[in-house]
Order: sequence, then structure tokens, then C-alpha cells
Amino acid sequence: MNAGQRENSAGEIDPTTVSTNPIRFCDIHPSKKVKFYCKNDRSMFCSKCILKHTEMKHEVIQISPKIDEMKKMIEEMVIEVEKHEDSLTVNEELYNKLEMKVRKKFNEEVDKLEKSFRRIMD
Ligand SMILES: [Zn+2]
Ligand SMILES: [Zn+2]
Repeated sequence: MNAGQRENSAGEIDPTTVSTNPIRFCDIHPSKKVKFYCKNDRSMFCSKCILKHTEMKHEVIQISPKIDEMKKMIEEMVIEVEKHEDSLTVNEELYNKLEMKVRKKFNEEVDKLEKSFRRIMD
């Protein structure tokens, strides 16, 4: 009986395991997830740290998982544009269309975030 040889793909890198984890924890409170971002300090922190920033009248926004969605959208846009660069016909119209779409979405989300944050502070 011959067992036969099978190719072992154990050395292969699985792209699904390479993806980075978007959940981050606070430097000061390692058990708390970061949920806010300070525009003045350009840092992220948890709901316990937020008072420190608001007392100093810093501009703080709430981080939403939708920001990751937006990042994905921008990546898709870049891929779409690169495809066209490959065929040596850079489609400016398509590029502008995609850029507008992303920008609109981005503005909508930032608006929503700032509104919901103001509600929390009131
Ligand atoms: Zn914290
Ligand atoms: Zn701050």
C-alpha cells in the first residue's frame, strides 16, 4: 500500500490571520477599550480618561467602528484606480466619482460622531 505524498501548505501565510485587530486598549487603563480621540493631543483613550481632556476644553470625538468601514472604502477606491492605471487609461472621471463618494461618506460620519458626542457631553 502506498500512502502517497500530499503537499503540505503549513508554511503558507494565511491573509485572514494577518489582518490587524482594530480594538485597542487604553494605555492608562489596560482593561478599558479606547473609544475617544482627542484632536488636540492626537491620541486615543478610554471613557475614564475623557474628563481629563474635556476639562482642558480639548476637541474630543467618539471613535466608531464605521471609521474602519471608511478606511476599507478608501482602500477599495485606491485598488479601483490602480486597476485603471494598469490599463494605461487613467480614468479621471471615475477617480473623481470615487473620491466624491468617499468624501461625502466621511463628512456624514464625522458629522454624526460629533453630534452624538455633543449629546453625551450635554
Ligand atoms: Zn483610560
Ligand atoms: Zn486632549
